[in-house]
Amino acid sequence: MSTTDATQTADNAIGFIGLGNMGGPMAKRLVEAGYSVTVFDLVPEAVERVVADGAKPAASARECVEGADVVLTSLPRPDHVQALMSGNGSGDSGLLSSLEPGTVWVDLTTNRKELVAELAASAPEGVTVVESPVTGAVDGARTGNLTLFIGGDDADLDRVTPILDHLGKVIRCGPLGTGNVVKLVTNQLWFVAAAALGEGFAVGMANGVELPTLWDAILNSVGDSFVARHDAPSIFAGHYDPSFSLDLCLKDLGLLAELGENVSAELPMTTAAHGAFAAAAERYGADVGELHVAKRIEDDAGLSMRMDGDWVPHWEK
Ligand code: NAD
Repeated sequence: MSTTDATQTADNAIGFIGLGNMGGPMAKRLVEAGYSVTVFDLVPEAVERVVADGAKPAASARECVEGADVVLTSLPRPDHVQALMSGNGSGDSGLLSSLEPGTVWVDLTTNRKELVAELAASAPEGVTVVESPVTGAVDGARTGNLTLFIGGDDADLDRVTPILDHLGKVIRCGPLGTGNVVKLVTNQLWFVAAAALGEGFAVGMANGVELPTLWDAILNSVGDSFVARHDAPSIFAGHYDPSFSLDLCLKDLGLLAELGENVSAELPMTTAAHGAFAAAAERYGADVGELHVAKRIEDDAGLSMRMDGDWVPHWEK
């Protein structure tokens, strides 16, 4: 662990665990920002990619956090975080217990707020926890244009913000838990809009309008949105965006359903979006891209939403 003031951020040694679609490019950006970044993933190729960019490989999660001032995790689901940080229930102690006093653990995973709180409460003396789920997709992770929803104690947020600034815009949400609530609300709105995209195209096409005309009209009307611009091209290109799986969509929708239980009202749009993504996963499997929610409508309606265009996949931008 470095002996300098942790706020002198480039002096912070970083341990980064989980180098998938989001974690890989985020770790690369921190290397490029001048940090010493040690990385670990269960998939050796994921480690090799980031090591080629200048990170140091670790042979295990435990080795990855040795000497780290700040530990970052970007894992798929809460159960992955729980297994890694608090142990697998079969005798292995979790990583959290091995962190040295003075270490901050920043969880970039979209996670269950109760789990984050539980883990924070069980952290060793002097180890603190910040949540920082992100939005902005793989292109945002590559280009440093994510939005990060941070929650935790002010002093810890002050300490890690200069590091997270290299990844995008940091929004302070409040105490631990609020970051994941805010992140999930932004996804709630995305799920509803994304599920509606294919429906809009289907209604237009089934009633005699060409897809290019619909697209032009959407871009120049109240139908325009970030979701339309960022995600409809994945439908037109026919890859349906494999960089965010239906499995992760359903994880977030499940977490949203839990948060919705605290609202004393029906949430029909959110419930309908959940149903639409679940139906797509049932039809095509959970490992496929998120916009299969639109493919299901194409297939059921006998329509093709392929359209010629310069649809550079966002993760290659
Ligand atoms: P991913 O599946 O592409 O990557 C997760 C990585 O974690 C994998 O490489 C996996 O091997 C690794 N991993 C799992 N358990 C591990 C362990 N115990 N030790 C080491 N490595 C382990 O997932 P992703 O798309 O990068 O998403 C990460 C998080 O970010 C998720 O919570 C997701 O909901 C969220 N998120 C994703 C996107 C996106 O567009 N993909 C956008 C915003 C937020």
